Amino acid sequence: DNSLANRVQRVKPSPTLAVTARAAELRAAGKDIIGLGAGEPDFDTPEHIKQAAIEAIQAGQTKYTAVDGTPELKQAIQKKLAGQNDLSYELNQILVSAGAKHSIYNVMQAILDADDEVIIPIPYWVSYPDMARLADAVPREIEATKDQRFKITPEQLEATLTSKTKLVILNSPSNPTGVAYTRAELQALGAVLENYPRAYVLTDDIYEHILWADEPFTNIVNACPGLKERTIVINGVSKGYSMTGWRIGYAAGPADVIGAMKKIQSQSTSNPCSIAQAASVAALTGDQGCIAPMLKAFRERHDFVVNALNNMKGVEAVEGDGTFYTFPRVQGAIDNLGLKTDVELAEHLINEANVALVPGSAFGLDGYARISFATSMENLEKAMDRLAKALG
Ligand code: PLP
Repeated sequence: DNSLANRVQRVKPSPTLAVTARAAELRAAGKDIIGLGAGEPDFDTPEHIKQAAIEAIQAGQTKYTAVDGTPELKQAIQKKLAGQNDLSYELNQILVSAGAKHSIYNVMQAILDADDEVIIPIPYWVSYPDMARLADAVPREIEATKDQRFKITPEQLEATLTSKTKLVILNSPSNPTGVAYTRAELQALGAVLENYPRAYVLTDDIYEHILWADEPFTNIVNACPGLKERTIVINGVSKGYSMTGWRIGYAAGPADVIGAMKKIQSQSTSNPCSIAQAASVAALTGDQGCIAPMLKAFRERHDFVVNALNNMKGVEAVEGDGTFYTFPRVQGAIDNLGLKTDVELAEHLINEANVALVPGSAFGLDGYARISFATSMENLEKAMDRLAKALG
């Protein structure tokens, strides 16, 4: 018959949709809703990057490029990984895709078979489990609440790894928590992984540049070089350079995995946008000074929001290390208001406080909420005021 594929039915519709739709509805009705749901920086793309795109158009760089990215961009990525991350890759170990999201999707399509297990720490970036399901694999989740600063322990990892584990996903600094693993913590996780040679590791480094921890950025390959031959490093220009709309991300890893991803990409999307690739060369090779003012603003907002949240009844926020999110526990507020779930709390807050945030259950952890501070300080001050009043 003409029903949809099973694979589609395995993917759940996002629980964030209800709140987003309600926010749009209320805005359309003229209500002054403050959105704290943004998944992207609120800054404009830096001028020199936009100029590079304009010049690329004028120079006629408007045709297909190599499937895996232009030589200029691949070389810029190679240099970036060597210079900023102390990781050396050959050009056939690098693939440029239409956003880090596309890179991650390609990884899963390239290495997962039916019934393979994918270890995903909770709370997670919403797409990981569904991408695993789209690849016919089975998500195996490890819950890490605020009491462990949202970081999985080596013991938890050991208890979840099996002979079926094909992929372990790490995201540091993390969406939705803003927390980053230390080098020592990554070394401890890596020591466990050494005993499971079948498992690939995916390190999602997309928030690398939005980090204010004491330690410089470190991923699991930096911490455990022995894992390099089965780790895929994911990064991109979206968050650090405020380029979410340009859709350029990349993967670096073992040549056979990258080659398989390239083959999949060649039969699906082909090359990412030629103009966006030219802009990304400017982002990676141009003045890195454009990052610092954005980082400074995010950190100031983080400090303000976390402090404001911790002064609210029934709310407990953990200090983050980076990103533009915080993930407070709000179970106390849910209880105080006589509500049942974090989804009900989000609905209550949008109706009573005109503030839109995303319930924690969207990220796999009930009793929490994700607040994005990728919006102006003025908005944040107003929003925190309204939340404090609504929570009593
Ligand atoms: N990984 C994480 C953890 C993210 O939060 C996001 C964006 O929200 C992505 C990947 C995807 O980034 P891109 O815009 O490059 O596809």
